[in-house]
Order: sequence, then C-alpha cells, then structure tokens
Amino acid sequence: MTTQNSPAAGRETTRNDMSQPDYDVAIIGGGMAGLAAAWRMRGRRCVVLEAGDRPGGRVHSLLSESTPLNLGAHMVGGPGSIVGELVAQTSLPTRKLPERLFGLQYAGRRHLGGSPSLLPLTMRLSPMERLAFMRLGLTLRLGAWRSTRAGGPDGNGLAHRESLFAFEGDRTLREAIGPMPERMEEILRGLTERNGADPTEMSAGHAFRSFANVWAKTAPGSNLVGGTAALPEALARGLGDAFRPGHKVTLVRRVADDRVEVAFETAAGPDSITARACILAAPAFVAKAIAPDLAARTRDALANIRYGAFLSVGVRLDRAARIPWRDTYAVATPDLGFSVLFNHDRMRPDEGEDSDHAVMLFAGAARASRWIAAGEAATLDRWIADLETHFPETRGHVRDATFMAWSAGAPFAFPGRALLQADLEMDDPPFALAGDYLEFPNMDAAAGAGYRAAERVEGWLAG
Ligand SMILES: Cc1cc2nc3c(=O)[nH]c(=O)nc-3n(C[C@H](O)[C@H](O)[C@H](O)COP(=O)(O)OP(=O)(O)OC[C@H]3O[C@@H](n4cnc5c(N)ncnc54)[C@H](O)[C@@H]3O)c2cc1C
Repeated sequence: MTTQNSPAAGRETTRNDMSQPDYDVAIIGGGMAGLAAAWRMRGRRCVVLEAGDRPGGRVHSLLSESTPLNLGAHMVGGPGSIVGELVAQTSLPTRKLPERLFGLQYAGRRHLGGSPSLLPLTMRLSPMERLAFMRLGLTLRLGAWRSTRAGGPDGNGLAHRESLFAFEGDRTLREAIGPMPERMEEILRGLTERNGADPTEMSAGHAFRSFANVWAKTAPGSNLVGGTAALPEALARGLGDAFRPGHKVTLVRRVADDRVEVAFETAAGPDSITARACILAAPAFVAKAIAPDLAARTRDALANIRYGAFLSVGVRLDRAARIPWRDTYAVATPDLGFSVLFNHDRMRPDEGEDSDHAVMLFAGAARASRWIAAGEAATLDRWIADLETHFPETRGHVRDATFMAWSAGAPFAFPGRALLQADLEMDDPPFALAGDYLEFPNMDAAAGAGYRAAERVEGWLAG
C-alpha cells in the first residue's frame, strides 16, 4: 500500500501505471557510498532509502555546539580526494590533524615525543625484542612503499583495483612477518587491528596498504570541524526529500526489463516503489540478502566478503583536564582494554581553552568482538579505568562516555580476495553495487564506488 508519507506518495505515476517507474534510480543505503551516488545523480529522479534514522552509516558523530563526539570515521582527505571535493562543495570547515600522528603508551611507559621510527631504540626491550621490532618496522615501511607502486595499467578501472587486491594478496600478514617475540606480537596486533582483522586473517597487502594510507603525502590529514557526520548531514540536506531515513529495504526484484520493484518497511508499515535502476549501497551481506536477482557469481562474491568488528567509545573530558596528547593524533595502547586513543579536539568549533576535550577510544578485530560480547557496562568500566590509570591527568575529568559497537566495522582483504573483484564489478543492469568493500575501505573508497555506480547507471539510462 502506498501511504501519504511514503516515498511513493506524490510520485509522478502510480503503481498501476506501468508506463513509467516511480524513479530513475533507487539507492539502497545512505552511507557515504549511497549519498555520493545520489549526489552525483541529483539531477535525476532519485531516492535514497536508508534503514537507520540518520545519514552516514559508519560515519557517525554526536554533533554538538561545543564538543562533538565522534564514533565512526574521523580522518578525511583534502583537495584531490573525492571526500575532499564533497567537503568543498558543501562548504564545511576542516582542520589539519596535529603535527604528530602517532604516539605509544606501552608497558607503563609513555612515548609521545620523538619519531616513531626511533621507538625500537627508545623503548625498554630485550635485545631480541629490539631486533624483532626493528625488523617489523622495516618490513612494514618497505611493504607500505611497495604497495603505493601497485595498481593496474587502467588508472581507475577494474584491472587497477584487481591488482591492488592482488598485491601481496596470496599470504597473510602473519606469514609475511614471520615469528616474533610475544610482546612484539601484541604490538603488531594492536597496530593492525584497525583493519578489522588479526594478522592471521588479513592479507599482507591489506596491512601494508593501511600503513601506506597513513604515511603517504596524500593520506587523509584533516578532521571536519563539528564532527565527521557534518558531511553526510550536509549531503542529505542537499538531497532534500530524496533522502528517506527509516526505510529498511527487504527485497529488490527485477519486475520487467526496464524496472525493479523495491519493497521496504517504515514505521507506518510495508511499502514499495519502482525504479529504472537500483544502486545497492548497503554492506555486502545486506546486498546479497535483499537482491536475489543479482547474477549468481556476484551473489557468491558478495557472500565471500569478510568483515571484522570495531568498537568505539566517545569520551568527553572537562576543560580542566591537562591532556598529555595535545600535539598527537593517535596514541596506540596495545596492552590496555582499548588499543588506540584518538585526540579529536580539532573537531571542536572552538579550539581554545573554553571547550571540553573530545577523545575516541577504539578497538578492532578480535579485541573489539571480545568487548562487544562483554557488553557496554563492562567495557565502559574497564576502558575508563584504563584511561584514568594510564593517563592520570584525566582522573576525575571524564564527563560522559558513549559506547558504539560496529559488529561489521570494516571489510578486510584476505588471501585470494582479488579473485572476487571481477564478479563484484560485472555489468548487471539494472543493478550496480557500491560500498567501501569494493576497494581498500574508507570514506573515499565508499564515495568513489558510489560515483562509479552512478556513472554506470547514467550509461544505462542514457542507453
Ligand atoms: C570506528 C570507525 C572508524 C573509521 N575511521 C575512518 C577514518 O578515519 N577515515 C575513513 O576514511 N574511513 C574510516 N572508517 C571507514 C568508513 O567509515 C567507511 O569505509 C565508510 O563510511 C563506508 O561507507 P559505505 O557507504 O560503504 O557503508 P556504510 O557506512 O555502512 O553505509 C551503508 C548504509 O546502508 C544502510 N543499510 C543497511 N541495510 C539496509 C537496508 N536493508 N535498507 C536500507 N538501508 C540499509 C546502513 O544503515 C548504512 O547507513 C571508519 C569506520 C569506523 C566504523
């Protein structure tokens, strides 16, 4: 049934009128991939159906006048990146990350000054550990550098993405690094769990690429003032009525050569629309579940995409706290409950002394899964206790803490992942896939996949 407030209400045709579908394109999912696709196609009759009550998906902040808390993606790219372009088009203010990107708190000692490459020399380690740490640093540096030279001949095409996945794509990170003393293993796990996987699961290429993305000159180097969610919010505002939160898609079917029918649930009950094409911009496992008419090979490939968990806790510290990480962006904490502390003070509209401090505590992969299973209360107890014990400057200054579990936090590449790419990108009108799982996952990859899906659909519509 079509209701007054449903997307189908006010459309130019009714369901019984088979001459023209309701929309040119229905986009399923209002994360960065879906929003970017819709932004690209905003001259078209386009609708974005989003299951949640806000735009952004894994870009999520608690927006506030003085101290926004960030719970999802946080580092954004500058000019030359797709996200940077979108930020410029929506006139959002950004601020550069602090000069020093990385610090370490480990075994009761703090390493916030100095170059990370000197850590193997400055940390208290046994000779064997020192050697292993130096070797690890070199392997990661060299791997990251080599990964920047990977990529296919066709610039931004399928072959390029296939060869990025194929780079060091036949062995795991564990196999590439070799055996190490236990404490070095702990540091390695802590440094790589932001990929959503343990070293025994992710391909070596995936890990190397994650380091290249931080060290490269083109690495995302800014925070959005007001919180990262300011971007999806601005895009959704720009899309107006085309962005529909609270619309959970349950089934997409090809009902004729030139149309799909999209069934969804809202607070008002079940409903459906028709469209000439459909961009599936929900996570891979959702796309597979709701679109049985996708090519069988594509559905198989979607079923093989693997995700790992993320867990974040946004913490507000009162302005009197004398935070020790003022000039550092990320402090790795491999032997605490959380594995990284991110300094999000640059997201505050007023950077001065008058605002509270914003921090995101983070865990990924197996550590995140363990804490998600332990539950919100147990996690907050232990993580805040760790924060106050190991950063005593924060004791008594925690104002509030917000728990956010991402059970499918990040898709990660594993040995053999490259073989799926052609099936994920095959031409299969009227369906196109979009999402961060189509590349090394981040906001830019998601938005890029959204743009490519939009271009593909434009081609079909024109044809
Ligand atoms: C804690 C964390 C930190 C991160 N840090 C960074 C960072 O610093 N920099 C960076 O660039 N990236 C970062 N990322 C990664 C980045 O957030 C993602 O790669 C990107 O946002 C993914 O966008 P997407 O559109 O592909 O997927 P999503 O954001 O997952 O969007 C998919 C959307 O589909 C919707 N959906 C699902 N099922 C349905 C359905 N049945 N019907 C309708 N809608 C549905 C979901 O609600 C969601 O809104 C981080 C992610 C997390 C979780």
